[in-house]
Amino acid sequence: MDNMMELAFPIIVGMIFLEIILGWIQHRHYYRVNDTVAGVSTGIMFMLVGVPTLFGALVVYNWIERNFSIMAHLGLEIPFDAPLAFHSAFPYVSIQWVPFLYWAVVVIAVDFLYYWFHRLSHEINFLWGSHVTHHSSEEFNLAVSFRGGSFQRVFEYIFFLPLALIGVNWLMFLFAHRALKLYQFWVHTAAVPELGPLEYVMVTPSNHRVHHGRNPQYIDKNHGGIFIIWDRMFGTYEPEREKINYGITNQLKSFNPLWMTFHYYAQLWQECMATKSWKNKVKIWFAKPGWKPADLGSSEIVYSDPARPNYDPPLPAQAKVYGITQFALLSGGALLAYSLAHDSVFGIFRLLILIGFVVYGLTVVGGILDSRPWVYPAEMLRLVLIPLVAFAIHLNGYLSVPVLLGCVGYSAASLLLLALLRRYFIQDVPAAEAA
Ligand SMILES: [Zn+2]
Ligand SMILES: [Zn+2]
Repeated sequence: MDNMMELAFPIIVGMIFLEIILGWIQHRHYYRVNDTVAGVSTGIMFMLVGVPTLFGALVVYNWIERNFSIMAHLGLEIPFDAPLAFHSAFPYVSIQWVPFLYWAVVVIAVDFLYYWFHRLSHEINFLWGSHVTHHSSEEFNLAVSFRGGSFQRVFEYIFFLPLALIGVNWLMFLFAHRALKLYQFWVHTAAVPELGPLEYVMVTPSNHRVHHGRNPQYIDKNHGGIFIIWDRMFGTYEPEREKINYGITNQLKSFNPLWMTFHYYAQLWQECMATKSWKNKVKIWFAKPGWKPADLGSSEIVYSDPARPNYDPPLPAQAKVYGITQFALLSGGALLAYSLAHDSVFGIFRLLILIGFVVYGLTVVGGILDSRPWVYPAEMLRLVLIPLVAFAIHLNGYLSVPVLLGCVGYSAASLLLLALLRRYFIQDVPAAEAA
C-alpha cells in the first residue's frame, strides 16, 4: 500500500514542476510562496496525524467487517483477486472480468460515500471546521491538494464504515480510497481547460475549480471525488462560467498552520460560549456554516467582495528566505518522523518530541510569513531547545554523537543567522526598503 504512494511521489513532484513551467510559458502565476508554504505545512501536519488515524480507522473497520459483515452472514464473500493479469507476450495485460467488476463496484461505492461526506462537510459546522483548511487558499494549483485539516480523516473514515458492514475487505477499501485520493491530486490545477465530454462524468480541473470558488453561484457545488455524476444527480452541479475567485468568504488572514487548522473551531467555541440558550449552544455545532443564534446577529450570508485583494502581507526578502530555508529543513524532519512512525523501535515518546518540534517550527514559519512580532523570541527559544533536548535524548542512549553534533551545529548556525537578520524580523525597516 505504501508502495502505491511511493510510486506516485515522483510523478506528483514532476507534475508540480510541469505546472510551474506552464505558468511561466502562459505568463500566469499559479503559485505564491507564502500561500504554498502555509498549505504544505498543514499537509505535513495532516500526514503526521494521519498515521495513527489510519491505524485506528482500520482496526475499527476490520473489527466491524469480521463481526458484522452481511455478506459473511449470507455465506458469501467478495473475492479479493487482482483485476488485471500481466503476461510476457502481447497484449501483455488482460482484464479479469469478475474481480474487475467487483473492484469497479467498490470504487464507485467509495466515491458515492465520499460525495456525501464531502457535501456534508460543507453543510454541517463541526465537519466544515476540519474541511475549511482545504479551501482557505486564494490560489489554485496542484499543491492546494496537500492542504487539509489534520483531523478531517477521523470523520471521513466513519462515512466508509457501511462498506465494512456489507463485507468489503479492509485492504480492498483502502486501495479504492487511496485511488480516490490520488485521483483528486490532478484536478487541483488552473493550467488545464474544460475537457469536453469528460465534464459530464468525471471530476475535472474545471469543475473542481468551481468547488474552490467563493463567487455566490459556486459555493457548495461540485463535491464529487472521482465522478461528477453524483453532483448532477443530487442537484449540486455547477459549470465553470464566470471568472473564479478562490478562497472562503471570511478571508483567513493567516499562514499559521495551527490557526489554519483550528480557527473555525475556535470561532464555533466562542459563539457557543456567547449564546445564551442551551439549545443554540448545541445547535451551533450542527448548523449550516454561516448560521448564527439570534442573540449573536444575523444569519444572512455576506458574500465576499470579488475584488478583495489576496492576503499577502509584505515581508523583507531576508526574513522570507530564512523562513523558507527552515521550512525545507522541517519538511525533511517531518519525512524522518513519518518513516520512524512505522518503526516501533524508535519509541512513541521520542517520536512525539520530533513531531512537536516539527509542528512548533512550522508554526514559527507561518508566523514569519504573517510578519508577526512574536516569531523572533519563539524561534530563538526553539533553536535553544533543540540541542538541549537532543542532549537529553543522547544521555538516554538513543541519539548517536554525530546526530547530536549535527543538531548543535544546525542550531548554532541558525541562531547566528537569526541574530544577523534581527532587524528584518523586528520590522524596524519598512518592507519595501528591505526587499
Ligand atoms: Zn470541499
Ligand atoms: Zn479541492
